[in-house]
Amino acid sequence: MQNIIDRFISYVTIDTQSNPKFKSTPSTKKQWDLANKLVEELKAIGMQDVTIDKKAYIMATLPSNVEHEVPVIGFVSHFDTSPDFSGTNVNPQIITDYDGNDIVLNEEQNIILSPDYFKDLLQYKRQTLITTDGTTLLGADDKAGITEIVTAMEYLINNPEIKHGKIQVGFTPDEEIGRGAHFFDVEKFGAEWAYTMDGSQIGELEYENFNAAGAKITFKGKSVHPGYAKGKMINSMLIANDFISQLPANEVPEKTKGYEGFYHVHHFNGSLEETVVELIIRDHDSKLFEKRKKNIQKIVDKINAKFEKQFGEAIAIVEIEDQYYNMKEKVLPVKHIVDIAEKAMLELNIKPIIKPIRGGTDGSQLSYMGLPCPNIFAGGHNFHGKYEYVPVESMQKAVEVIVKIAELTALPNFGLEEKAEIETEEKIKPKKEKKSKKEKEKKDKKKAKARAKAKSKSKDKKKKKK
Ligand SMILES: [Zn+2]
Repeated sequence: MQNIIDRFISYVTIDTQSNPKFKSTPSTKKQWDLANKLVEELKAIGMQDVTIDKKAYIMATLPSNVEHEVPVIGFVSHFDTSPDFSGTNVNPQIITDYDGNDIVLNEEQNIILSPDYFKDLLQYKRQTLITTDGTTLLGADDKAGITEIVTAMEYLINNPEIKHGKIQVGFTPDEEIGRGAHFFDVEKFGAEWAYTMDGSQIGELEYENFNAAGAKITFKGKSVHPGYAKGKMINSMLIANDFISQLPANEVPEKTKGYEGFYHVHHFNGSLEETVVELIIRDHDSKLFEKRKKNIQKIVDKINAKFEKQFGEAIAIVEIEDQYYNMKEKVLPVKHIVDIAEKAMLELNIKPIIKPIRGGTDGSQLSYMGLPCPNIFAGGHNFHGKYEYVPVESMQKAVEVIVKIAELTALPNFGLEEKAEIETEEKIKPKKEKKSKKEKEKKDKKKAKARAKAKSKSKDKKKKKK
């Protein structure tokens, strides 16, 4: 545990905030400070072929230690932190044996991390938490992920009795500004699949994310003296307002959850003669996603038709650009890569929390670049702000998950056979219970016979599998 704490603190105390205003990669020079350190560290723990390219993408290899062929897998994290909140002079606080009460992050400024507001804290009673001092973010997103990957690789190197195939490690800049995957050399990485260690609480396992597009609509107007404006003036702001009012009022981020998609107007800048509205479109379902984009076009067409005569040309111009897609399409055909991660967690007594991401990850882009890439928890909470914290025990568990995934991948059928049997048993069980409830009113004899049959059938099935 101390090893994890020391390593994590050595990373978060280096400022690596990215900045979307700069076009270079990495977007900020300071990201090199940690990148260079990571290269040295990967070499020091004994990783092979450690490389860093001109854009600060880091790759390293842990060679296979088995004779038979095992698919090459990878683990990926990002070392930049969010532009939303300062990452300068991060001063981590370590709370050992957390008692479940308020944590004073900053006495002077009265900044308190309270379980009254952040209920998740209570699941970490008696654990060791790392928090901020209330003036910066922590950077567990995603330096926790980097800590876990490096620690897991070190563990595998020091414990060669654990058998595994070739493992690739990839660390990227600029994930927080949506560019983490942009220059990721999937071919050079050479893995069949990978996992981003970039999720939040312990147990998270994600392989579904939004389909995403951005739309920009420019509305034109006509300025005329207000006193003489009747039938002549066209106020672009009011037309833009009309457009927004035609979007489904309940399909907005603040009223949706789970698999529900939305339209989100995030920018409105207007004057009489020109108003620009920008919005994002999100949906897990690719058909509904396309429908949403068409709906925007439809509303704009309607507005254009309405003003065709008066304005003479299209009064509204719409530009829609796809941003990223649901990785599910790329992951489902190789679903075993999720099953391996799930099994790894179950074997370590971690309850897998499998849920759709209401956003995107680097993994979604990587999946479409040919590297299917589900997302696994890194352990942190309250990302991108001063309330960010991470339980050390969750980081420890993430290390164990990485090691276990490496181990399972080297087993015949990835060690998944056993799980399939448990599943069949589980499937039979609830059915039995249902039946017995219903059939209580029916004849007992029939029920007994059916049960006996089902049992002998399931036994046969098991035998065949073995
Ligand atoms: Zn992240």
